[in-house]
Amino acid sequence: MCGPEVVETVHRRIGRRALFGSFGAAALTVATAGAVRAEPVVASAIPAGRLVDLTHTLSPTFPVWPGSEPFSMRPVAAYELGGFLVNKLSYWEHTGTHIDAPAHRVRGGATADILPLEDLIAPLVVLDISARSASDPEAVVTTEDIAQWEREHGRIPDRALVAMHSRWQNRLAERAAPGFGADAAQMLVRERNVVGIGVDTLSLDRTNDREYPAHTAVLGAGRYGVEALANLDAVPPAGATVVVGAPKHAGATGGPCRVFAIVPG
Ligand SMILES: [Zn+2]
Repeated sequence: MCGPEVVETVHRRIGRRALFGSFGAAALTVATAGAVRAEPVVASAIPAGRLVDLTHTLSPTFPVWPGSEPFSMRPVAAYELGGFLVNKLSYWEHTGTHIDAPAHRVRGGATADILPLEDLIAPLVVLDISARSASDPEAVVTTEDIAQWEREHGRIPDRALVAMHSRWQNRLAERAAPGFGADAAQMLVRERNVVGIGVDTLSLDRTNDREYPAHTAVLGAGRYGVEALANLDAVPPAGATVVVGAPKHAGATGGPCRVFAIVPG
């Protein structure tokens, strides 16, 4: 177990960051993980609300980035042979609904296994750009989209996860797709202190932008990305809390996640 001073520190950090502003602070008690042994994480009061799964079901037919191998799964143990069923999985890290850790883009950047737990629970901000992206795969999230959201909902909360809602979640096999523009990504990191950004496409950047400015701005600042989010139409543009169940294999540049939102009310 970690010492009481560690728990207290986490309480202070969560309180300062107001992660649960709408639910009341100090809703969570966190025992941080040891270097070798995983310690329990105890939620003393789970925020009340409706749960929305923001995760696609991963299967061999799920679209992957060009050049990546598709997900595969085959049984390696069977009830008939030993009493248990076990599958062997094979996939590239950036498959399905997944996290991009800073190390994915930046040499020496943080890997997913060492991202702070408090960064994986965040206010969820949803920027709906579908009015443009429905007919334009080159559409990007702009600083004006951020300004428009803030006119309607107030300033983006500190330490938020800001997600692009392009309504492309069922168009992932198409080669060209929308993403974050460079200016918007930089603004979110530098001026809104986000923990990360998310998209309902396969890439934080517009697919045809091979300079990858959004990846560079966000991951280069030590923040993370979440790609291939699902069901953003089932969460409000403001007020929800998102939980990113990031993988914890040593040295992870990313990996499939279970991502869900808690919507108050
Ligand atoms: Zn990725």
